[in-house]
Amino acid sequence: MIKEKSRWSHSRVSAYEGCPKAYKFRYVEKGNKQEFIGIQLIVGSVFHYVLEVMYKDFSLNGILPFKDIKNIFEVKWKEKLEEVSRRDQKIVINAEVKDLAPFKNFCFNCISRYYKKFYKSGVETDFDACKTEEQVLPEIFYDKDELIEFRGSIDRLDIKGDEVIIVDYKTSRHPPNDKFLDNSFKQLYLYGIAIQKQERFKSIKRIKVKLIYPYTGIIIDRVLTKESVEETKNHYIDLIKTLKKDKKFTQKPGFRCFSCGYRRICPELSATYRLEENKDDIAIKDAANLVDRYVLLKQKNNELTKEIDEIKDQILLNKEEFLDGSLEGAFVIPGAETGMDLVVDIEKVPKIPDSKDAMRDVMSKELSKKGLWEEIATLNSQTINPKIKRNEYTKEVMEVLSDYIYEDEESSRMRTRKRKKKPKTL
Ligand code: SF4
Repeated sequence: MIKEKSRWSHSRVSAYEGCPKAYKFRYVEKGNKQEFIGIQLIVGSVFHYVLEVMYKDFSLNGILPFKDIKNIFEVKWKEKLEEVSRRDQKIVINAEVKDLAPFKNFCFNCISRYYKKFYKSGVETDFDACKTEEQVLPEIFYDKDELIEFRGSIDRLDIKGDEVIIVDYKTSRHPPNDKFLDNSFKQLYLYGIAIQKQERFKSIKRIKVKLIYPYTGIIIDRVLTKESVEETKNHYIDLIKTLKKDKKFTQKPGFRCFSCGYRRICPELSATYRLEENKDDIAIKDAANLVDRYVLLKQKNNELTKEIDEIKDQILLNKEEFLDGSLEGAFVIPGAETGMDLVVDIEKVPKIPDSKDAMRDVMSKELSKKGLWEEIATLNSQTINPKIKRNEYTKEVMEVLSDYIYEDEESSRMRTRKRKKKPKTL
């Protein structure tokens, strides 16, 4: 008997990939409530339900009339909202949209487009048999005899001749990008691994995986191959190994935060909720005031740094006045009122490619290949360049660097010091 709890799922692993903190809230800690639910989840869930009804007893009922589909949709949409409200979840929608009407329309639009383009037309009913919400238990072996057990549910499984087709529906408004596609296909390949193992599909020659986008009217399919199976296995093994080692589950803020169920308890946003909702919370108010002071000082600091850099540039523009005709050297300019001096030190140093320079990568690779990168890896070019001038690197490092060194460039340092008292003359 398989213990359901010990099984992994694509959505569980993807949740970790999307945001380790959200994964921790959901799968590691027990009892965290998902206070928010994105409207897309409701749209997807209602769409999938209606499609399941369309195909559930297809061999008996054939194509269902559109008016029945509309009724089924209406009932399910209402039921879903009631369920969300019972769970005391708040539905998240875009700020510029007033209510749920556009989302309900969109969901029904997906259904009616699917109905016309793929269902009634016969494009997606051209099979010998089909099964909806097929439960599968893929297994992946790694590190000799370690086993990762998954469970999953296939939206629709078609059988046509000696071919099995794993179908998945996607209710996104836009055609998918490559990264999203790859991830979606990984899930279907994983289910394909389970299908391959089943005795009843022994005579099957080919397993196909298919994504259907009803809104955009796109179908994308691929064939399960040895390579895709290997890639899929490695993908899940790597992710699960990383996940098992993770102790911190650091949050990964991004577009997912918008409709994340754990927004209120996530350290990324919890203090913002605390500040907005607890007018008498002195600790958060004090912390927020400190943040404002910090931000203002940082801004001032940036303005001052900019002003200082401009003054430095102006002083360097007039360096010939004080350098006595040489290109390098140190000189001192007195302040008019402060009693302080500015010491300016100018030197020409060999320059290696900095982090913005594409050659830096080539140079790092060569140094790494020769086992020399460690010697300079932690230093920035400002520190490295004077060291090159002073010949402080080993012969081996210098041999590599010399291929990448640009012509000497001017480097200047400035420091202030208290003015020394002038000796008295009689
Ligand atoms: S709010 Fe964002 S960062 Fe926090 S758990 Fe959710 S997705 Fe992750």
